[in-house]
Amino acid sequence: MKIRRRSGGNEGLIFGHALALLVGALANSAHGQSLVGSAKAAPFQLFAPKVASRSDDRFLYVESNGMPSHPMMIGITAWQQQVPLLQRYVGANAWQIPLNPTPAASPRTIKNQFLRGAIALAVNGIPIFNPQNNRGEVSADIGELDQWGGHCGRADDYHYHAAPLHLQSVVGPAMPIAFALDGYPILGLCEPDGSAPMGLDAFNGHHSNAAGYHYHASQKYPFVNGGFHGEVIEREGQVDPQPRANPVRPSLQALRGAKITGFEAVSETAWKLSYELSGERRAVSYSQAPDGSASFEFQNGRQGVVKEVYAASRGGVPPNGVDRPPAARNGNTGPRRNPDPENGPRKPWIQVHGAELDANNDSVISSAEFDGEAKRTFAGYDQNKDGRLSRDEYSGPGSVRSPMGGFVKEHPDKLDSDHDGAISEAEFLREVRRMFDKLDFNRDGNLSAAEWRDLPAGVPAPQDGPPPGQSQRGPQKGPQKTR
Ligand SMILES: [Zn+2]
Ligand SMILES: [Zn+2]
Repeated sequence: MKIRRRSGGNEGLIFGHALALLVGALANSAHGQSLVGSAKAAPFQLFAPKVASRSDDRFLYVESNGMPSHPMMIGITAWQQQVPLLQRYVGANAWQIPLNPTPAASPRTIKNQFLRGAIALAVNGIPIFNPQNNRGEVSADIGELDQWGGHCGRADDYHYHAAPLHLQSVVGPAMPIAFALDGYPILGLCEPDGSAPMGLDAFNGHHSNAAGYHYHASQKYPFVNGGFHGEVIEREGQVDPQPRANPVRPSLQALRGAKITGFEAVSETAWKLSYELSGERRAVSYSQAPDGSASFEFQNGRQGVVKEVYAASRGGVPPNGVDRPPAARNGNTGPRRNPDPENGPRKPWIQVHGAELDANNDSVISSAEFDGEAKRTFAGYDQNKDGRLSRDEYSGPGSVRSPMGGFVKEHPDKLDSDHDGAISEAEFLREVRRMFDKLDFNRDGNLSAAEWRDLPAGVPAPQDGPPPGQSQRGPQKGPQKTR
């Protein structure tokens, strides 16, 4: 297994984008905006000024704050306590839609892949994620989605996991409701003349003389593009490049039994989400300042009121020297930290075992060192050397002496992602790599001392939402609680 590296890390990525934008801007000033670009921009322009777009020779760049104009979250019964916060999908962090999609030599399905990040962008500037959440479940089937087909991810970023069919009435039958990230449009349920689409391929797509290749939305799986007819670049399980979300607070855990009953935009920067829990009416009132910092007031019924304030995320900066997250509160009275079985109650796992993983003692844990340990661990359990770990091989009293030995024994079901009763080396390495990506805040393929040795406690476990690596945790002020 090899982790693709990007030289220069995050800064290089952003600088590269800035350069591309600059070159694009120059090209535009010289030749004017391309016709293709303006045609693709038309549906987005219906949502101006909330949604803005510009183009160069290659891409339409779409900017938004990640907030649709419709209410959100109402009807969700499987809720991870996230609420919609403003995102900064602007500048070098804008969405990119290829202007001239290229049919792929080997088209890729989205089934069980591309589970991280967006696969499409709705014309109201809201990303559309894989209909499967990043645990592989179809979000629409398990109460995770509101009546608009969306919910919030770990970074409090709102996104859809189904087709935003409500946009059909805004854009009309002739315009797409979204674009897949390969650049092909996604029309609504009908053709522009109102007829039903005929001869759809496995990805919900087909050709027409008028529109060329395009996808259609559907009311059942895959809801949107079931794959990519066009070329896309996959990097770490998602289409690349794509914007990052800006989390301001740690991710939270599911609040069992809660049902979201209301959502109200009090102003452009203040909102109130209402829900019911155990027959009690509760609410989260929150607002965001221009600098991105957020203030929350949790109205927890008989349990009283809890207030929290979070500083704005400064994307890409490792959480070095930040305040420790507060201890978990008791009971389902409000947001609680996500318990991380890997990390244990005190020190993050990586902090405890980092020195063992840093084989050459240079204070940096490279992806090669991480992978090497994973392979040694796997080989240690694989007694009969068939490349698969059966239950007999890992469930005995002993454990392979490795910092990763416990993962196999404690989470075999999670590791066996295809549920065939054995853990393949690929399954194990994939999960280990997800963990590495989660820890590698600046995505340079190395865990610096700041990323492992000096890490604060309470790093949250992966949840649905912006995948590890895509989501950046910035320094944050620990919540200031006033009861
Ligand atoms: Zn069609
Ligand atoms: Zn999601």
